[in-house]
Amino acid sequence: MRVVVIGAGIIGSSVAYEAARAGAQVTVLEAGRIAGGASTTSFAWTNATGKRPQPYFALNVAGMRAHLDLAREFGHAPWFHQTGSIEWYSNEADWPAQLENAEQMRDWGYGVEWIGKARVAELEPEIDPAAIANSPVVYYPEEGWVQPALYAAWLLRAAKEKWNADIRSHAAVTSVDVRNGVAKSVRTVDGAVHEADAIVNCTGSWAAHVLDGVPPIPMASNMGIIGFTFPLATTLRRQFHMDDLDVRPDGAGRLMIHKISADSLVTEMQPLETAGAQARHLLDAVRRVLPAVQPDDMESIRTVVRPIPSDNLTCSGWMPGVEGYYVAVTHSGVSIAPHLGKAVAQEVVRGHAHESLQDFRPDRFLAAKNGLGERS
Ligand SMILES: Cc1cc2nc3c(=O)[nH]c(=O)nc-3n(C[C@H](O)[C@H](O)[C@H](O)COP(=O)(O)OP(=O)(O)OC[C@H]3O[C@@H](n4cnc5c(N)ncnc54)[C@H](O)[C@@H]3O)c2cc1C
Repeated sequence: MRVVVIGAGIIGSSVAYEAARAGAQVTVLEAGRIAGGASTTSFAWTNATGKRPQPYFALNVAGMRAHLDLAREFGHAPWFHQTGSIEWYSNEADWPAQLENAEQMRDWGYGVEWIGKARVAELEPEIDPAAIANSPVVYYPEEGWVQPALYAAWLLRAAKEKWNADIRSHAAVTSVDVRNGVAKSVRTVDGAVHEADAIVNCTGSWAAHVLDGVPPIPMASNMGIIGFTFPLATTLRRQFHMDDLDVRPDGAGRLMIHKISADSLVTEMQPLETAGAQARHLLDAVRRVLPAVQPDDMESIRTVVRPIPSDNLTCSGWMPGVEGYYVAVTHSGVSIAPHLGKAVAQEVVRGHAHESLQDFRPDRFLAAKNGLGERS
């Protein structure tokens, strides 16, 4: 069976690896660099906390477990860091919601530990205890973080070396050739035609754009800003989440910084200055928790589009009306990717519906568009 995967972010790489492993002859067509879309500029925290409804939580947990399986399978998994993560809120008004969420997560079988400041100091001595003050602190031991570019590189290398997958970067797909309702091939920008028995669209936020021949997926993607410090003499291993600030190590001593309130400072992709207002906003917040970080420690700061299907949930399944054309697009893609890769391969290559995807089919968008009602 010939499978063409469009897009080589963390989702496309996972689908390509699992489809090749399941026996398909896989071709990956990536418009730019491998993992050069949202995946490289993602906070990339593997988690399911706060994710609702329950089937979406379960999908994220399945992803977290699949990361562990994949790391075991490769033996050496330099992309994966299951360090656990630490969360607290400085404002007392946020504590009831934190407690309610932690209890819900625990009821659903998620690892949740309440820890004191002394334990935080043992785990991460660079965190200033004054920044925690008397806030309750939750430790989520199963969570971790991923370096998606390395993830994609290792999976695609394995797909190529073990199962002869054909991986092409700088090969943007411009159209899907559909004849009598069946997707037959894709055409790339250089005019090359790749015939396929199944085509899997893994283009993230670009799924909202029209590829000639097939319908788009309605997306509510939004902007994110991620800052990277210079390599610092830091021993921080775990990510922490304080209020709307997220910080984690990013290899070689760099810290990655994300702050939800900073995201709204931009409305489109644009170059940002390392000494600009957005960078200051991020660094000021970090320095209140990690006093060793200096005001001029920002090495780079980037904008990125966060791929989000319009109802915030994963979209994975065959596109109704276009036989042989499958779409796999999601937010939380880093958490879900290795599971989604397996589930999509089962559906596309083996032809068996995967139970975990039943609530996330693309037809819900078409039904809503045609006035056929909302999904329950
Ligand atoms: C700021 C931010 C923070 C995030 N934090 C987290 C987090 O903590 N945890 C988590 O799980 N998720 C997080 N996410 C979401 C996660 O990063 C995404 O869900 C995931 O990266 C999506 O992967 P993808 O492969 O679908 O998309 P992408 O990585 O965007 O890959 C899509 C690829 O398709 C290619 N493409 C597009 N059009 C074409 C075409 N016509 N032909 C060929 N190729 C094409 C693009 O070039 C791109 O490489 C975050 C995202 C952002 C932006």
